[in-house]
Amino acid sequence: MSEEANPFESLQRQIDNASQFLDVRSDVLERLKHPQRVLETNLSVKMDDGTIGVFKAFRSQFNGDRGPYKGGIRYHPGVTRDEVKALSGWMVYKCAVVDIPYGGGKGGIVINPKDHSEGELERITRSFAKELRPIIGEDRDIPAPDVNTGQREMNWIKDTYETLENTTAPGVVTGKALESGGSEGRVEATGRSTMLTAREAFDYLDKDMEGASVAVQGYGNAGSIAAYLIEDLGANIVAVSDSSGAVYNPDGLDARAVKEFKNDTGSVTGYAEATEELTNEDLLTLDVDLLVPAALENAIDGDLAKQVRADVIVEAANGPLTPEADEVLTESDVYVFPDILANAGGVTVSYFEWVQNRQRFYWSEERVNDELETVIVNAFNGLVDAYETHGLPSFRTAAYVVAIQRVVKAFEEGGTFP
Ligand code: NAD
Repeated sequence: MSEEANPFESLQRQIDNASQFLDVRSDVLERLKHPQRVLETNLSVKMDDGTIGVFKAFRSQFNGDRGPYKGGIRYHPGVTRDEVKALSGWMVYKCAVVDIPYGGGKGGIVINPKDHSEGELERITRSFAKELRPIIGEDRDIPAPDVNTGQREMNWIKDTYETLENTTAPGVVTGKALESGGSEGRVEATGRSTMLTAREAFDYLDKDMEGASVAVQGYGNAGSIAAYLIEDLGANIVAVSDSSGAVYNPDGLDARAVKEFKNDTGSVTGYAEATEELTNEDLLTLDVDLLVPAALENAIDGDLAKQVRADVIVEAANGPLTPEADEVLTESDVYVFPDILANAGGVTVSYFEWVQNRQRFYWSEERVNDELETVIVNAFNGLVDAYETHGLPSFRTAAYVVAIQRVVKAFEEGGTFP
Protein backbone atom coordinates (compact mmCIF):
# COMPACT_ATOMS: atom_id res chain seq x y z
CA MET A 1 0.00 0.00 0.00
CA SER A 2 1.25 3.49 -0.71
CA GLU A 3 1.86 5.66 2.33
CA GLU A 4 -0.85 8.14 1.41
CA ALA A 5 -3.69 5.60 1.27
CA ASN A 6 -4.45 3.92 4.61
CA PRO A 7 -5.86 0.55 3.50
CA PHE A 8 -8.07 0.19 6.56
CA GLU A 9 -9.73 3.55 5.86
CA SER A 10 -10.18 2.48 2.19
CA LEU A 11 -11.96 -0.67 3.35
CA GLN A 12 -14.27 1.30 5.64
CA ARG A 13 -15.00 3.74 2.79
CA GLN A 14 -15.95 0.87 0.46
CA ILE A 15 -18.37 -0.49 3.06
CA ASP A 16 -19.89 2.98 3.56
CA ASN A 17 -20.29 3.39 -0.22
CA ALA A 18 -22.14 0.09 -0.55
CA SER A 19 -24.25 0.71 2.55
CA GLN A 20 -26.05 3.59 0.83
CA PHE A 21 -27.74 0.96 -1.31
CA LEU A 22 -28.53 -1.44 1.52
CA ASP A 23 -31.18 -1.55 4.17
CA VAL A 24 -28.81 -2.38 7.04
CA ARG A 25 -29.01 -0.88 10.54
CA SER A 26 -26.10 1.42 11.32
CA ASP A 27 -25.13 -0.53 14.47
CA VAL A 28 -24.97 -3.79 12.48
CA LEU A 29 -22.93 -2.04 9.80
CA GLU A 30 -20.51 -0.60 12.38
CA ARG A 31 -19.73 -4.18 13.40
CA LEU A 32 -18.67 -4.94 9.81
CA LYS A 33 -16.12 -2.12 9.78
CA HIS A 34 -13.84 -3.48 12.53
CA PRO A 35 -11.97 -6.75 13.10
CA GLN A 36 -13.27 -9.01 15.83
CA ARG A 37 -9.78 -9.49 17.24
CA VAL A 38 -6.16 -8.83 16.32
CA LEU A 39 -3.23 -10.80 17.70
CA GLU A 40 -0.05 -8.74 17.94
CA THR A 41 3.03 -10.65 18.96
CA ASN A 42 6.79 -10.20 19.04
CA LEU A 43 8.59 -13.34 17.97
CA SER A 44 11.96 -14.03 19.62
CA VAL A 45 13.99 -16.30 17.39
CA LYS A 46 17.55 -17.58 17.53
CA MET A 47 19.50 -16.31 14.48
CA ASP A 48 22.29 -18.18 12.70
CA ASP A 49 24.94 -16.09 14.50
CA GLY A 50 23.54 -16.97 17.95
CA THR A 51 21.82 -13.61 18.59
CA ILE A 52 18.08 -13.27 19.20
CA GLY A 53 16.02 -11.61 16.46
CA VAL A 54 12.74 -9.94 17.43
CA PHE A 55 10.00 -9.78 14.78
CA LYS A 56 6.61 -8.10 15.06
CA ALA A 57 3.75 -10.22 13.72
CA PHE A 58 -0.03 -9.90 13.46
CA ARG A 59 -3.08 -12.03 12.81
CA SER A 60 -6.40 -10.26 12.32
CA GLN A 61 -9.64 -12.24 12.58
CA PHE A 62 -12.11 -9.85 11.04
CA ASN A 63 -15.44 -11.64 10.92
CA GLY A 64 -16.51 -15.26 11.39
CA ASP A 65 -20.27 -15.05 10.85
CA ARG A 66 -20.16 -17.28 7.75
CA GLY A 67 -17.48 -19.76 8.84
CA PRO A 68 -13.88 -20.08 10.03
CA TYR A 69 -11.58 -17.09 9.48
CA LYS A 70 -9.61 -17.50 6.27
CA GLY A 71 -6.74 -15.61 4.72
CA GLY A 72 -3.07 -15.45 3.88
CA ILE A 73 0.12 -14.68 5.78
CA ARG A 74 2.42 -12.04 4.29
CA TYR A 75 6.15 -11.55 4.94
CA HIS A 76 7.10 -7.97 4.08
CA PRO A 77 8.95 -5.07 5.73
CA GLY A 78 5.92 -2.84 5.03
CA VAL A 79 3.41 -4.97 6.96
CA THR A 80 1.39 -2.85 9.42
CA ARG A 81 -1.45 -3.55 11.81
CA ASP A 82 -3.82 -1.47 9.65
CA GLU A 83 -2.78 -3.25 6.45
CA VAL A 84 -3.41 -6.66 8.03
CA LYS A 85 -6.78 -5.47 9.39
CA ALA A 86 -7.82 -4.20 5.93
CA LEU A 87 -6.69 -7.35 4.13
CA SER A 88 -8.61 -9.48 6.65
CA GLY A 89 -11.76 -7.44 5.96
CA TRP A 90 -11.40 -7.82 2.20
CA MET A 91 -11.23 -11.60 2.74
CA VAL A 92 -14.65 -11.51 4.47
CA TYR A 93 -16.24 -9.86 1.47
CA LYS A 94 -14.30 -11.95 -1.08
CA CYS A 95 -15.48 -15.21 0.52
CA ALA A 96 -19.03 -13.90 0.77
CA VAL A 97 -19.24 -12.69 -2.85
CA VAL A 98 -18.29 -16.14 -4.19
CA ASP A 99 -20.41 -17.73 -1.44
CA ILE A 100 -17.86 -20.04 0.14
CA PRO A 101 -18.42 -20.77 3.85
CA TYR A 102 -15.62 -18.74 5.39
CA GLY A 103 -15.13 -15.52 7.29
CA GLY A 104 -12.00 -13.41 6.79
CA GLY A 105 -8.59 -13.25 8.38
CA LYS A 106 -5.07 -12.17 7.45
CA GLY A 107 -1.64 -12.26 9.01
CA GLY A 108 1.79 -10.86 8.50
CA ILE A 109 5.31 -10.63 9.83
CA VAL A 110 7.30 -7.40 9.52
CA ILE A 111 10.33 -8.91 7.82
CA ASN A 112 12.30 -8.85 4.59
CA PRO A 113 12.69 -12.56 3.84
CA LYS A 114 15.67 -11.81 1.56
CA ASP A 115 17.66 -10.86 4.70
CA HIS A 116 17.36 -14.35 6.19
CA SER A 117 18.65 -17.87 5.58
CA GLU A 118 16.21 -20.71 5.02
CA GLY A 119 16.96 -21.96 8.55
CA GLU A 120 16.08 -18.58 10.08
CA LEU A 121 12.89 -18.36 8.01
CA GLU A 122 11.88 -21.81 9.20
CA ARG A 123 12.43 -20.90 12.87
CA ILE A 124 10.60 -17.58 12.42
CA THR A 125 7.67 -19.36 10.74
CA ARG A 126 7.51 -22.08 13.38
CA SER A 127 7.68 -19.44 16.13
CA PHE A 128 4.72 -17.61 14.55
CA ALA A 129 2.85 -20.93 14.19
CA LYS A 130 3.37 -21.55 17.95
CA GLU A 131 1.85 -18.14 18.75
CA LEU A 132 -1.03 -18.79 16.33
CA ARG A 133 -1.74 -22.31 17.59
CA PRO A 134 -4.45 -21.42 20.16
CA ILE A 135 -6.44 -19.36 17.64
CA ILE A 136 -6.06 -21.34 14.39
CA GLY A 137 -7.39 -24.78 13.48
CA GLU A 138 -9.37 -26.55 10.76
CA ASP A 139 -12.62 -25.13 12.17
CA ARG A 140 -11.25 -21.87 13.65
CA ASP A 141 -8.92 -19.99 11.33
CA ILE A 142 -7.14 -21.33 8.25
CA PRO A 143 -4.06 -19.42 7.03
CA ALA A 144 -2.76 -19.56 3.45
CA PRO A 145 0.14 -18.07 1.46
CA ASP A 146 0.32 -14.40 0.54
CA VAL A 147 3.14 -12.06 -0.54
CA ASN A 148 6.54 -13.78 -0.02
CA THR A 149 5.10 -16.97 1.48
CA GLY A 150 4.26 -20.18 -0.33
CA GLN A 151 3.98 -23.94 -0.04
CA ARG A 152 7.17 -24.18 2.04
CA GLU A 153 5.89 -21.87 4.80
CA MET A 154 2.46 -23.58 4.81
CA ASN A 155 4.11 -27.00 5.19
CA TRP A 156 6.10 -25.68 8.21
CA ILE A 157 2.99 -24.19 9.84
CA LYS A 158 1.04 -27.42 9.34
CA ASP A 159 3.89 -29.49 10.78
CA THR A 160 4.30 -27.21 13.84
CA TYR A 161 0.56 -27.21 14.53
CA GLU A 162 0.25 -30.99 14.14
CA THR A 163 3.30 -31.59 16.34
CA LEU A 164 2.02 -29.35 19.16
CA GLU A 165 -1.53 -30.71 18.92
CA ASN A 166 -0.33 -34.32 18.58
CA THR A 167 -2.71 -34.92 15.68
CA THR A 168 -3.00 -34.78 11.89
CA ALA A 169 -4.85 -31.72 10.62
CA PRO A 170 -3.87 -30.96 7.01
CA GLY A 171 -6.81 -28.54 6.69
CA VAL A 172 -5.24 -26.13 9.23
CA VAL A 173 -3.58 -24.30 6.31
CA THR A 174 -4.14 -24.27 2.54
CA GLY A 175 -1.77 -23.66 -0.34
CA LYS A 176 0.34 -26.65 0.68
CA ALA A 177 2.49 -28.73 -1.66
CA LEU A 178 0.60 -31.64 -3.27
CA GLU A 179 2.38 -34.30 -1.19
CA SER A 180 1.51 -32.43 2.02
CA GLY A 181 -2.19 -32.31 1.19
CA GLY A 182 -2.34 -29.52 -1.42
CA SER A 183 -4.90 -29.43 -4.23
CA GLU A 184 -4.53 -29.88 -7.96
CA GLY A 185 -5.29 -26.61 -9.77
CA ARG A 186 -4.30 -24.32 -6.85
CA VAL A 187 -1.34 -22.70 -8.66
CA GLU A 188 -3.48 -21.73 -11.67
CA ALA A 189 -6.60 -20.82 -9.69
CA THR A 190 -6.22 -17.02 -9.45
CA GLY A 191 -5.33 -16.63 -13.14
CA ARG A 192 -8.21 -18.95 -14.00
CA SER A 193 -10.83 -16.92 -12.07
CA THR A 194 -9.45 -13.78 -13.73
CA MET A 195 -9.94 -15.40 -17.15
CA LEU A 196 -13.44 -16.62 -16.24
CA THR A 197 -14.42 -13.12 -15.03
CA ALA A 198 -13.08 -11.57 -18.25
CA ARG A 199 -14.91 -14.15 -20.37
CA GLU A 200 -18.23 -13.58 -18.57
CA ALA A 201 -17.74 -9.79 -18.65
CA PHE A 202 -17.18 -9.76 -22.42
CA ASP A 203 -20.19 -11.98 -22.92
CA TYR A 204 -22.36 -9.72 -20.73
CA LEU A 205 -21.14 -6.56 -22.49
CA ASP A 206 -21.63 -8.21 -25.91
CA LYS A 207 -17.95 -7.83 -26.74
CA ASP A 208 -16.04 -10.37 -28.80
CA MET A 209 -13.09 -12.01 -27.03
CA GLU A 210 -11.83 -13.42 -30.35
CA GLY A 211 -9.20 -10.93 -31.51
CA ALA A 212 -9.67 -8.62 -28.49
CA SER A 213 -6.55 -6.67 -27.45
CA VAL A 214 -5.36 -7.27 -23.90
CA ALA A 215 -2.68 -5.63 -21.71
CA VAL A 216 -1.49 -7.32 -18.50
CA GLN A 217 0.35 -5.36 -15.81
CA GLY A 218 2.46 -7.66 -13.60
CA TYR A 219 3.66 -10.94 -15.13
CA GLY A 220 3.89 -13.08 -11.98
CA ASN A 221 1.70 -15.97 -10.89
CA ALA A 222 -1.69 -14.29 -11.32
CA GLY A 223 -0.88 -12.15 -14.39
CA SER A 224 0.97 -14.66 -16.56
CA ILE A 225 -1.54 -17.46 -16.02
CA ALA A 226 -4.48 -15.10 -16.65
CA ALA A 227 -2.69 -13.99 -19.85
CA TYR A 228 -2.25 -17.42 -21.36
CA LEU A 229 -5.75 -18.58 -20.37
CA ILE A 230 -7.25 -15.41 -21.93
CA GLU A 231 -5.08 -15.98 -25.02
CA ASP A 232 -6.58 -19.49 -25.23
CA LEU A 233 -10.00 -17.77 -25.63
CA GLY A 234 -8.73 -16.18 -28.88
CA ALA A 235 -7.63 -12.78 -27.52
CA ASN A 236 -4.37 -11.02 -28.47
CA ILE A 237 -2.07 -10.29 -25.52
CA VAL A 238 -0.54 -7.10 -26.95
CA ALA A 239 1.43 -5.91 -23.89
CA VAL A 240 2.72 -7.29 -20.60
CA SER A 241 4.92 -5.80 -17.89
CA ASP A 242 6.85 -6.58 -14.75
CA SER A 243 8.87 -4.41 -12.39
CA SER A 244 11.58 -4.04 -15.10
CA GLY A 245 9.27 -2.53 -17.77
CA ALA A 246 6.75 -3.47 -20.48
CA VAL A 247 6.87 -5.17 -23.90
CA TYR A 248 4.40 -4.51 -26.71
CA ASN A 249 3.41 -6.02 -30.05
CA PRO A 250 0.14 -4.82 -31.63
CA ASP A 251 -0.22 -8.19 -33.42
CA GLY A 252 -0.02 -10.09 -30.14
CA LEU A 253 2.74 -11.67 -28.02
CA ASP A 254 2.88 -15.40 -27.31
CA ALA A 255 1.89 -15.36 -23.61
CA ARG A 256 3.51 -18.71 -22.74
CA ALA A 257 6.71 -17.88 -24.64
CA VAL A 258 7.02 -14.55 -22.76
CA LYS A 259 6.61 -16.43 -19.48
CA GLU A 260 9.37 -18.88 -20.46
CA PHE A 261 11.56 -15.92 -21.43
CA LYS A 262 10.92 -14.30 -18.02
CA ASN A 263 11.66 -17.58 -16.23
CA ASP A 264 14.98 -17.81 -18.09
CA THR A 265 16.09 -14.17 -17.87
CA GLY A 266 14.26 -12.80 -14.83
CA SER A 267 12.21 -10.19 -16.71
CA VAL A 268 9.91 -9.66 -19.71
CA THR A 269 12.03 -6.85 -21.15
CA GLY A 270 14.27 -7.89 -24.03
CA TYR A 271 11.73 -10.40 -25.37
CA ALA A 272 12.64 -10.67 -29.06
CA GLU A 273 9.12 -10.85 -30.57
CA ALA A 274 8.15 -7.49 -29.03
CA THR A 275 8.07 -4.61 -31.51
CA GLU A 276 8.40 -1.95 -28.80
CA GLU A 277 9.34 -1.55 -25.15
CA LEU A 278 7.07 0.69 -23.06
CA THR A 279 7.14 2.14 -19.58
CA ASN A 280 4.88 0.56 -16.97
CA GLU A 281 2.72 3.68 -17.07
CA ASP A 282 2.39 3.51 -20.90
CA LEU A 283 0.99 -0.01 -20.58
CA LEU A 284 -1.74 1.12 -18.20
CA THR A 285 -2.95 3.79 -20.63
CA LEU A 286 -2.92 1.68 -23.85
CA ASP A 287 -6.04 1.75 -25.99
CA VAL A 288 -7.02 -1.90 -25.46
CA ASP A 289 -10.23 -3.87 -25.08
CA LEU A 290 -9.12 -5.36 -21.74
CA LEU A 291 -6.64 -4.24 -19.08
CA VAL A 292 -5.66 -6.72 -16.35
CA PRO A 293 -3.75 -5.12 -13.43
CA ALA A 294 -2.00 -8.06 -11.75
CA ALA A 295 0.88 -6.43 -9.84
CA LEU A 296 0.42 -4.53 -6.58
CA GLU A 297 -2.02 -2.27 -4.74
CA ASN A 298 -2.63 1.35 -5.83
CA ALA A 299 -1.18 0.87 -9.36
CA ILE A 300 -3.64 3.38 -10.85
CA ASP A 301 -4.30 6.65 -9.02
CA GLY A 302 -6.84 9.37 -9.78
CA ASP A 303 -4.59 11.22 -12.27
CA LEU A 304 -3.58 8.13 -14.21
CA ALA A 305 -7.20 6.93 -14.25
CA LYS A 306 -8.10 9.97 -16.37
CA GLN A 307 -5.74 8.65 -19.08
CA VAL A 308 -6.94 5.04 -19.02
CA ARG A 309 -8.32 4.07 -22.47
CA ALA A 310 -9.18 0.41 -21.89
CA ASP A 311 -12.84 -0.56 -22.34
CA VAL A 312 -12.85 -3.14 -19.54
CA ILE A 313 -10.65 -3.65 -16.46
CA VAL A 314 -10.55 -7.00 -14.67
CA GLU A 315 -8.61 -6.74 -11.39
CA ALA A 316 -6.34 -9.72 -10.75
CA ALA A 317 -4.35 -7.81 -8.09
CA ASN A 318 -5.85 -6.84 -4.75
CA GLY A 319 -6.76 -3.14 -4.66
CA PRO A 320 -5.00 -2.00 -7.88
CA LEU A 321 -7.13 1.18 -8.09
CA THR A 322 -6.96 3.89 -5.45
CA PRO A 323 -10.41 5.06 -4.23
CA GLU A 324 -9.90 8.23 -6.35
CA ALA A 325 -9.14 6.16 -9.47
CA ASP A 326 -12.21 4.09 -8.78
CA GLU A 327 -14.35 7.24 -8.66
CA VAL A 328 -12.88 8.56 -11.93
CA LEU A 329 -13.45 5.26 -13.74
CA THR A 330 -16.97 4.85 -12.33
CA GLU A 331 -17.81 8.27 -13.84
CA SER A 332 -16.29 7.27 -17.19
CA ASP A 333 -17.31 4.51 -19.61
CA VAL A 334 -14.74 1.99 -18.35
CA TYR A 335 -16.26 -1.17 -16.86
CA VAL A 336 -14.33 -2.37 -13.82
CA PHE A 337 -14.79 -5.94 -12.57
CA PRO A 338 -13.51 -6.02 -8.99
CA ASP A 339 -10.71 -7.98 -7.32
CA ILE A 340 -12.97 -9.65 -4.77
CA LEU A 341 -14.60 -11.53 -7.67
CA ALA A 342 -11.83 -11.75 -10.27
CA ASN A 343 -9.03 -13.05 -8.03
CA ALA A 344 -11.27 -15.15 -5.78
CA GLY A 345 -10.12 -18.31 -7.58
CA GLY A 346 -7.22 -18.54 -5.12
CA VAL A 347 -9.38 -18.71 -2.02
CA THR A 348 -12.01 -20.83 -3.77
CA VAL A 349 -9.50 -23.57 -4.62
CA SER A 350 -8.11 -23.17 -1.08
CA TYR A 351 -11.64 -24.02 0.05
CA PHE A 352 -11.60 -27.09 -2.24
CA GLU A 353 -8.23 -28.06 -0.74
CA TRP A 354 -9.71 -27.83 2.77
CA VAL A 355 -12.77 -29.88 1.74
CA GLN A 356 -10.46 -32.56 0.29
CA ASN A 357 -8.32 -32.50 3.46
CA ARG A 358 -11.38 -32.92 5.68
CA GLN A 359 -12.66 -35.83 3.59
CA ARG A 360 -9.20 -37.35 2.98
CA PHE A 361 -10.44 -37.74 -0.61
CA TYR A 362 -8.63 -35.98 -3.45
CA TRP A 363 -10.04 -34.58 -6.71
CA SER A 364 -8.68 -34.54 -10.27
CA GLU A 365 -7.51 -31.24 -11.75
CA GLU A 366 -10.44 -31.40 -14.16
CA ARG A 367 -12.92 -31.59 -11.26
CA VAL A 368 -11.22 -28.69 -9.45
CA ASN A 369 -11.40 -26.52 -12.61
CA ASP A 370 -15.03 -27.45 -13.28
CA GLU A 371 -16.11 -26.68 -9.71
CA LEU A 372 -14.18 -23.38 -9.81
CA GLU A 373 -15.93 -22.38 -13.03
CA THR A 374 -19.32 -23.06 -11.43
CA VAL A 375 -18.46 -20.89 -8.39
CA ILE A 376 -17.12 -17.95 -10.42
CA VAL A 377 -19.90 -17.97 -13.04
CA ASN A 378 -22.58 -18.12 -10.31
CA ALA A 379 -20.90 -15.27 -8.44
CA PHE A 380 -20.62 -13.21 -11.63
CA ASN A 381 -24.33 -13.71 -12.35
CA GLY A 382 -25.25 -12.74 -8.79
CA LEU A 383 -23.22 -9.57 -9.08
CA VAL A 384 -24.78 -8.58 -12.42
CA ASP A 385 -28.22 -9.28 -10.98
CA ALA A 386 -27.56 -6.89 -8.05
CA TYR A 387 -26.05 -4.28 -10.44
CA GLU A 388 -29.17 -4.28 -12.62
CA THR A 389 -31.84 -4.78 -9.93
CA HIS A 390 -30.61 -1.95 -7.69
CA GLY A 391 -29.29 0.30 -10.51
CA LEU A 392 -25.86 0.37 -8.83
CA PRO A 393 -23.08 2.71 -9.98
CA SER A 394 -20.40 0.03 -10.40
CA PHE A 395 -19.74 -3.69 -10.33
CA ARG A 396 -17.56 -3.12 -7.26
CA THR A 397 -20.47 -1.62 -5.36
CA ALA A 398 -22.58 -4.56 -6.56
CA ALA A 399 -20.00 -7.01 -5.19
CA TYR A 400 -20.02 -5.31 -1.77
CA VAL A 401 -23.83 -5.13 -1.72
CA VAL A 402 -24.09 -8.89 -2.39
CA ALA A 403 -21.34 -9.71 0.12
CA ILE A 404 -22.57 -7.47 2.94
CA GLN A 405 -26.11 -8.81 2.58
CA ARG A 406 -24.81 -12.37 2.99
CA VAL A 407 -22.73 -11.55 6.09
CA VAL A 408 -25.56 -9.56 7.71
CA LYS A 409 -28.04 -12.37 7.07
CA ALA A 410 -25.73 -14.93 8.72
CA PHE A 411 -25.25 -12.59 11.71
CA GLU A 412 -28.97 -11.91 12.12
CA GLU A 413 -29.87 -15.60 11.82
CA GLY A 414 -27.31 -16.49 14.49
CA GLY A 415 -28.28 -13.68 16.84
CA THR A 416 -26.02 -12.08 19.41
CA PHE A 417 -24.22 -13.73 22.32
CA PRO A 418 -24.31 -12.85 25.21
P1 NAD B 1 3.93 -12.29 -8.04
O1 NAD B 1 4.98 -11.80 -7.12
O2 NAD B 1 4.01 -13.69 -8.58
O3 NAD B 1 3.82 -11.31 -9.32
C1 NAD B 1 3.79 -9.92 -9.24
C2 NAD B 1 4.37 -9.37 -10.54
O4 NAD B 1 4.17 -7.94 -10.58
C3 NAD B 1 5.89 -9.59 -10.70
O5 NAD B 1 6.15 -10.06 -12.00
C4 NAD B 1 6.49 -8.18 -10.52
O6 NAD B 1 7.67 -8.00 -11.27
C5 NAD B 1 5.35 -7.34 -11.09
N1 NAD B 1 5.39 -5.92 -10.69
C6 NAD B 1 5.69 -5.38 -9.49
N2 NAD B 1 5.60 -4.03 -9.57
C7 NAD B 1 5.23 -3.74 -10.84
C8 NAD B 1 4.97 -2.54 -11.53
N3 NAD B 1 5.06 -1.35 -10.93
N4 NAD B 1 4.59 -2.61 -12.83
C9 NAD B 1 4.48 -3.78 -13.45
N5 NAD B 1 4.72 -4.95 -12.84
C10 NAD B 1 5.09 -4.93 -11.55
O7 NAD B 1 2.55 -12.07 -7.27
P2 NAD B 1 1.12 -12.73 -7.57
O8 NAD B 1 0.93 -13.88 -6.65
O9 NAD B 1 0.92 -12.90 -9.03
O10 NAD B 1 0.17 -11.56 -7.02
C11 NAD B 1 -0.10 -10.40 -7.81
C12 NAD B 1 -1.34 -9.73 -7.25
O11 NAD B 1 -2.42 -10.67 -7.26
C13 NAD B 1 -1.22 -9.24 -5.79
O12 NAD B 1 -1.99 -8.07 -5.63
C14 NAD B 1 -1.85 -10.37 -5.01
O13 NAD B 1 -2.36 -9.93 -3.74
C15 NAD B 1 -2.97 -10.75 -5.96
N6 NAD B 1 -3.49 -12.09 -5.69
C16 NAD B 1 -2.73 -13.19 -5.92
C17 NAD B 1 -3.25 -14.44 -5.64
C18 NAD B 1 -2.47 -15.68 -5.92
O14 NAD B 1 -3.03 -16.77 -5.72
N7 NAD B 1 -1.25 -15.61 -6.44
C19 NAD B 1 -4.55 -14.56 -5.11
C20 NAD B 1 -5.31 -13.42 -4.89
C21 NAD B 1 -4.76 -12.18 -5.18
